[in-house]
Amino acid sequence: MGGSAFSRRHFLSQVGVVGAAAVTSGLLPRQAWGQGKVLNLYSGRHYGTDQKIYDSFTAKTGIRVNLVEASSDALLERIIAEGANSPADVLLTVDAGRLWRAEQAGLLEPVKSAALEQGVPEYLRHPDGLWFGLTKRARVLMYHKDRVNPADLSTYEDLTDAKWRGKILTRSSTNVYSQSLVGSMIAVHGEADTEAWCRGLVANFARPPQGGDTDQIRAVAAGAGDVAISNTYYLARLLKSQKPEDREVGRQIGVFFPNQQDRGTHVNISGGGVLKRSPNKEAAIQFMEHLISPESQEIFAKSNNEYPVLKDVSTDFVVLSWGTFKEDTVNAAVFGANNALALQITDRAGWK
Ligand code: FE
Repeated sequence: MGGSAFSRRHFLSQVGVVGAAAVTSGLLPRQAWGQGKVLNLYSGRHYGTDQKIYDSFTAKTGIRVNLVEASSDALLERIIAEGANSPADVLLTVDAGRLWRAEQAGLLEPVKSAALEQGVPEYLRHPDGLWFGLTKRARVLMYHKDRVNPADLSTYEDLTDAKWRGKILTRSSTNVYSQSLVGSMIAVHGEADTEAWCRGLVANFARPPQGGDTDQIRAVAAGAGDVAISNTYYLARLLKSQKPEDREVGRQIGVFFPNQQDRGTHVNISGGGVLKRSPNKEAAIQFMEHLISPESQEIFAKSNNEYPVLKDVSTDFVVLSWGTFKEDTVNAAVFGANNALALQITDRAGWK
């Protein structure tokens, strides 16, 4: 991180504090951003290994990547606050729901790119190129190997069966992963049946939702419940932990990919798009194309133990050990479109 990167970061934080007026008051003319060989990347991803991808982009193009990291929601607010003066070229977020919010806020530029259209399957990108999925995350059932026979597991729908009373663990419906899963259920079953499913799921909860996916996995190992709904990479993280006690938790947990006989397992994406106000659109598209290259895809997926979107790219060995599976290929845009309804439904169903 050089001095100029620091001053840019500092400047950006100034913009956040004093508002867009400061940008036009001559502190640093906006044109300076576009003229220099700098790409301003606003990223909600926080994986150190991603830096390797940015470095290889710089080596390939001579364009330096100025990374601004914050939560996806904070980045969205910031881009909106920066308005016409936003220096952001590319936005990366960790789920389709946030990409949808960026799209709804009118922040994203439609991109036409053969490389992106060929590399990213249709269901993992916006129909007009407003955003592209870059990695996939599967939301699976994780069960205790000693207490659950995987032959008893089948679908998300079956989790409402009386045999799972007091045994299901999942995080809160205030979390976007829960909302996207419910959004995918709405797409298949409609509002009324999805609400009934949510009620049945809540009736089978082992405890009121608390904590993140890792906490649900730990609770299964500790015996608080038998089956957790979780993204796979959280288990991979435990299995690869430096702490023996984490690996011991992971060792007790089996991975089950639900709905293999019908629509497939729910997958969400981390992804990104080019910003409408990007001062540096050409570089921004080049950067997105770089992220879909086989080399970047492998690093990108491995950095968080996720699945690459590009075909024939290998990922982490722990992830590979769970085998291949059929994915639900509903377009990720549907999760965003159904998000508000998903919130209402989970609320009515008492899913805290
Ligand atoms: Fe996550």
